[in-house]
Amino acid sequence: MKTAPLARTEMLPYGKQAIDEDDIQAVVDVLRSDYITQGPAIDSFERRVADYVGARYAIAFCNGTAALHAACYAAGVGQGDEVITTPITFLASSNCALYMGARPVFVDIKLDTYNIDPDRLAHAITSRTKAIIPVDFTGQPVEIDRIAELARERGLVVIQDAAHSLGSSYCHRKVGALADMTMFSFHPVKHVTSGEGGVIVTDNEHYYKRLQLFRSHGMTRDTTLMQKNDGPWYYEMIDLGYNFRMTDMQAALGASQMKKLDGFVRRRREIAARYSEAFSDVEGLIVPYQHPNAQSSWHLYILRWDEKYFNDGRNRAFQALRDRLIGVHVHYIPIYKQPYYRSLGYSYVDCPNAEEYYQTALTLPLFPSMTDQDVRDVINNVKEVAVILKND
Ligand SMILES: *Cc1c(COP(=O)(O)O)cnc(C)c1O
Repeated sequence: MKTAPLARTEMLPYGKQAIDEDDIQAVVDVLRSDYITQGPAIDSFERRVADYVGARYAIAFCNGTAALHAACYAAGVGQGDEVITTPITFLASSNCALYMGARPVFVDIKLDTYNIDPDRLAHAITSRTKAIIPVDFTGQPVEIDRIAELARERGLVVIQDAAHSLGSSYCHRKVGALADMTMFSFHPVKHVTSGEGGVIVTDNEHYYKRLQLFRSHGMTRDTTLMQKNDGPWYYEMIDLGYNFRMTDMQAALGASQMKKLDGFVRRRREIAARYSEAFSDVEGLIVPYQHPNAQSSWHLYILRWDEKYFNDGRNRAFQALRDRLIGVHVHYIPIYKQPYYRSLGYSYVDCPNAEEYYQTALTLPLFPSMTDQDVRDVINNVKEVAVILKND
């Protein structure tokens, strides 16, 4: 195999959507139809996601963040409650608790899976804890059996943030059928996209009804929920909700993309396997560990640069690879370090594993439409940079 890297002419991004003519046609069909919002495309999209993961209900939102917000509402999270999550995640995983007046509690990650540590989680539960929001970071499912057991014992609701893990399984059961509620995001960097979009799946009818209420202003026409009924035109607002609805154009795109999910996941797994094969014997590079119960759909591929081998390795590798037009990234800055969270009093938070992870982690490009040449380019450049940095 040739090792000379081809000079790239443009930045290879870390993630990118794959839209084809069928997707475009699906959106155009909606635009020519009677409904562009609150129409039949929403129902078919929701049905498709529910069926794919094996859940009873799916409910679509304008984005994943709104979906998490609604799930906190449905779970009854409120003022003074605590919600446990991981610091190594996107801001939305904990912001959703703040929206409800609750307090996020950050529990450190494990340094093998980079997911929340169930042992530490057990110690963080207090009488105020209402919900747990575990995040399937990079697509690798959390140890949901242990987390669900803790939740059952302590009467907590589990809202699985599966923004990274559509198509993943735990013990060969699809993510989406494992927690009280599960959130999927359809942002363009995620596995499949609707432009912007989010879905909550659940088997629980009570949560389903609360999610519907929250999505649309807290309005209902369900006579069993109304105080009175003035006639067929009548509705009541029984709680404070929002307009968190998805459009039918988005739903049609999402439904069309869902048909390609398994193919996308197959390609992601193939690329991740090539990366791990290429880097696992390079001294100082730490390839992702996969828990034996987890079958990841690989949203992100994280390569860690061991500080014992590379002085300031991650930071220098980031710059060197960007200079070579390899669009590496860092996911994520521990949330409690953000100025807003510090202003809320989170400066005391100490998650040593999250800190060590954050200093050493680098996200490599990974998306289904990467060519084999793109993959070789990443591998060759990473290996060269590793040699240069080690000799320094
Ligand atoms: C993308 C993402 C979200 C939020 O989804 P949006 O659709 O962008 O609002 C939440 N949690 C995680 C871990 C994510 O990666």
